[in-house]
Amino acid sequence: MVSRVIPVDPFDLVIFGGTGDLARRKILPGLFRRFCSGQMPPQARIIGAARTDLDAAGYREMVSEAIAEFGGAFTCEDQTLEAFLNQVDYLAIDARGETGWEALQDKMKGTDRIEAYYFSVSPSLFGDLAERLQKWGMADAQARIVVEKPFGRDLETARSLNATLAKYFNEDQIYRIDPSLGKETVQNLMAVRFGNLLFEPLWNAQYVDHIQITVAETVGVGGRGEYYDTSGAMRDMVQNHLMQLLCLIAMEPPARFDPDAVRDEKLKVIRALDPLEAHHIVRGQYQAVPMDEVENPGYRSAVGDARSRTESFIALKTHLSNWRWAGTPFYLRTGKRMSARSSEITVVFKETPHSIFAEDAGRHPNVLSIRLQPNEGITLGVTIKEPGPGGMRLIDVPLDMTFAEALGDDGTDQVDAYERLIMDVIRGNQTLFMRGDEVEAAWAWTDPIIQGWTARADVPKPYDSGSDGPGDADEMLRRDGRAWREVKP
Ligand code: NAD
Repeated sequence: MVSRVIPVDPFDLVIFGGTGDLARRKILPGLFRRFCSGQMPPQARIIGAARTDLDAAGYREMVSEAIAEFGGAFTCEDQTLEAFLNQVDYLAIDARGETGWEALQDKMKGTDRIEAYYFSVSPSLFGDLAERLQKWGMADAQARIVVEKPFGRDLETARSLNATLAKYFNEDQIYRIDPSLGKETVQNLMAVRFGNLLFEPLWNAQYVDHIQITVAETVGVGGRGEYYDTSGAMRDMVQNHLMQLLCLIAMEPPARFDPDAVRDEKLKVIRALDPLEAHHIVRGQYQAVPMDEVENPGYRSAVGDARSRTESFIALKTHLSNWRWAGTPFYLRTGKRMSARSSEITVVFKETPHSIFAEDAGRHPNVLSIRLQPNEGITLGVTIKEPGPGGMRLIDVPLDMTFAEALGDDGTDQVDAYERLIMDVIRGNQTLFMRGDEVEAAWAWTDPIIQGWTARADVPKPYDSGSDGPGDADEMLRRDGRAWREVKP
């Protein structure tokens, strides 16, 4: 199936931190793919801006290397790469000083196109950048800023960051990015829920037994150890990524598919979350498997603190106090060094109220699985008769909608989350970005939990690398007569 690509309007995108890891791995290769697909118009300009002392030619070389290294299976003609690089420019700029700002102002002067400023730098520089953009006359009506995560480390810091940005930009100019929301499946989740009559009548506590959200990684903290140890799975993953997924699965149908209508509904979900009880949370920390310690050190060695109490795994059970979901448990789980890399939301429906079949025919509740990675797609388990003459025995078969197969592509044309989100920024569509009040509400829910751990000097339970977290996480569901879904690659 050939996808329809509609070019966006001409724009200037300034990438602060344009020489950094994120820019090289995601932003620049993503822009190149959008260019190749015809979505990025030839008048658009990409201006890398960072502290690194480079000229435009040196930066283009760096961009070209980044595309070769991180561009994936995607290939483009040589002339196309050259044409793309002709639209790339660079300025050495100091977010905290005056270097480079006049030159940037000159470049941006007199254009009436969309201006996007991507803050791909440490959050400690967000305020400096916003202030200087205003000082140099670039925080005008057509400007928008893209802000990377983490957005604060608790309610107080998030509020203060929101207040700082609000001094220079309106909320409709601020794009707080969470790449998980740029996934094809996340949007498809909304399409499936709100575009079909089939699911919505069943989407409530009366018919849904429980919902699971698992985001499992096989990698450890890697080179991010120092940062990660000040954060942990709750701050790094649950407060943003998992809660956003929870919002999308649990929210009421918005009146329209427009940014504020969607975000209003998501906010209501966060506000309806019950406070977490300590016995509904399991924290874990991965440990090395003997013989593999040198290659894959345990968490504490990786972060260089033999007494670290930061969690690399978390499993929790929560409820929403609202009409739709009262009584339905939501189980959330995320961790590093787990058995497979997999992100999945699973809606487990209740059993039929009465079985007309013999007891040994089996009872099979329907399960809807929404896979975010790998193999983005949606599967609905339905019960049918086992084929053959063996009598009426029931089995589950998956109705599978793997997008790469269903949409007839080989996967290389799948748009990465960053590309989609950057194009949304240019189009001015904030639906898939977090609003300031959402971020604050999410911190307001997680803060007391984190504070409780600190006050109690809570020590996470060790779990083996390559396992699916501490046994207590399984026990938490077993107590409820349920089990986690298998973490499948
Ligand atoms: P990085 O350390 O690799 O790059 C930082 C960039 O900021 C460099 O280009 C550097 O020149 C620039 N910089 C530093 N100080 C500056 C200053 N005073 N003035 C101007 N530029 C300055 O960082 P990164 O990994 O690319 O991360 C950037 C942001 O993205 C951070 O907020 C990070 O939390 C977020 N993020 C990164 C990833 C990732 O995979 N790398 C994932 C999610 C979020």
